[in-house]
Amino acid sequence: MNTRIGNGYDIHQLSAGRPLILGGVNIPHELGLLGHSDADVLTHAIMDAMLGALSLGDIGHYFPPTDEKWAGADSLMLLKQVNELVQEKGWKVSNIDSVIVAERPKLKPHIETMRSKISSTLNLNPDQVGIKATTNEKLDAVGREEGISAYAVALLMAD
Ligand code: MG
Repeated sequence: MNTRIGNGYDIHQLSAGRPLILGGVNIPHELGLLGHSDADVLTHAIMDAMLGALSLGDIGHYFPPTDEKWAGADSLMLLKQVNELVQEKGWKVSNIDSVIVAERPKLKPHIETMRSKISSTLNLNPDQVGIKATTNEKLDAVGREEGISAYAVALLMAD
């Protein structure tokens, strides 16, 4: 078997006085995501998809929120470590696809920068990293702007 697939999901609460960081990009907004690390919900979903493809568990296992070491951590640095683990196991990412669900702010102007940050962290071409954004049509917690969620799938190839 020379391909594996994994999926990842994450959600964080929106809160005043926090930066909004998505895909490594600091996005101007009056609310940011609450979490132990930088709460980059997109990067967290991508990491879980990559780990899931190899049945390696989830990011909570590698970067526990109870460990002070990860307080305020730059999630792109965590993504780099997950990629190193994938490579150690003899695999590489073929492509990633993802979607961010956020009512506000408009994310379209930031998508290309996110793709560039994620792909360069993973040593991939930007065309191997898909990032889409949608609203939740005002429904449920995400629709009420109480949080932002993200979904990702990752396809891995034997290296
Ligand atoms: Mg998270």
